[in-house]
Amino acid sequence: MVHRVSVVNCSSYQQDEVQGAMERTLAGLGGIERFVARGDRVLIKPNLVMAKRPQDAVTTHPSLVEALCRQIISVGGHPVIADSPGGPLSLAMLKRIYRITGMEAAARNTGARLNHDLAFEEVDHPRGKVVGRVKILKCILDANVVISFAKLKTHGMMLFTGAVKNMFGAVPGLVKGEYHFNMPQIGDFSNMLVDICDLVKPGLSLIDGIVGMEGEGPSSGKPAGIGVLLASDSPHALDYAAVSLVGIKPERVPTISRAAERGLLKGGPQEVDIVGDMTQLSCIRGFETPAIMTASFTRGRVPAFLEDMVNRAIRPKPVFVHNSCTGCGDCRINCPAHAIEMVDHKPVVQLDKCIRCFCCQELCYQKAVSIYRPWFLRTIDHGRR
Ligand code: SF4
Ligand code: SF4
Repeated sequence: MVHRVSVVNCSSYQQDEVQGAMERTLAGLGGIERFVARGDRVLIKPNLVMAKRPQDAVTTHPSLVEALCRQIISVGGHPVIADSPGGPLSLAMLKRIYRITGMEAAARNTGARLNHDLAFEEVDHPRGKVVGRVKILKCILDANVVISFAKLKTHGMMLFTGAVKNMFGAVPGLVKGEYHFNMPQIGDFSNMLVDICDLVKPGLSLIDGIVGMEGEGPSSGKPAGIGVLLASDSPHALDYAAVSLVGIKPERVPTISRAAERGLLKGGPQEVDIVGDMTQLSCIRGFETPAIMTASFTRGRVPAFLEDMVNRAIRPKPVFVHNSCTGCGDCRINCPAHAIEMVDHKPVVQLDKCIRCFCCQELCYQKAVSIYRPWFLRTIDHGRR
């Protein structure tokens, strides 16, 4: 079976342009009626990693969520907007995130509902490769249709975050940290992300690539104007198309490699069928990506007996920029390995405990955490592009 990906040009977040782009993108897949039936409760899962304004390019843009809600309502569906951002989650924090990211306005403008129910259930995952039971938000389990609506961004640990990684938000707040801690290796962690996406099974996936994020994503990078909206019935094919578009080799993205190994990119990634404005994916040149380290990074490059030592020496590490740091302590609370201490109101990391998940960087509002990557890692990684 060949998976279809619809890619449509859209140059701004003006509501009328976005509405037209949404209709054309979904038309390329057979229209919203292919995914939503009258009376369906449709859960839209945008990327709302933190309380950032739409123009910061960290979260899925509200004009797109609004356009999608209108499409769902036009065929008699009932849209619900939900996410479980990282860190400890309270109702007050969730409401703040909805307000600042523009989701509150998107819901108000369309009559969609915002989810405020933080309840979750632990469910069996018989097909899970690395997780046999998973804690999932109840609102997601209760939906008739789940839609993953991601933002096209780089990621310090996983290189790229798109439709598959977006479904990690189905796991409640701090439980995500437990999963990070229990699966510190990229191979296991990426298999776990594929497991969760496979369990939730979004019927439709979209990526906001109108303005994405390059460099130190997913929250400290630079906005990058790409000018596209993408959609597919397969989150794996969608991620494949999105990374190809910005010049990242799909095999470098751990979640795409795992999906291909597990037969979830059916027929092989070369059989992803692109329709819409870009029938062939042309590369956006110069898109900046972080260097990441997979388990096999040094294999074949250094003698086997030195591999472990070299891997340890070249591992990226978090660096706290004390001049920008307000001493809020969020990084300490969000660190799944309990590797951060506050000393004189500034964070200090114990690198022997650090699992290099980079949650501290992802969830710091001040962009006060950078990732140090040794020149050796950067040089080799550059050569792989
Ligand atoms: S590094 Fe960021 S999250 Fe950590 S204390 Fe400083 S400002 Fe807060
Ligand atoms: S210090 Fe940062 S990178 Fe290291 S384990 Fe904690 S959150 Fe993850």
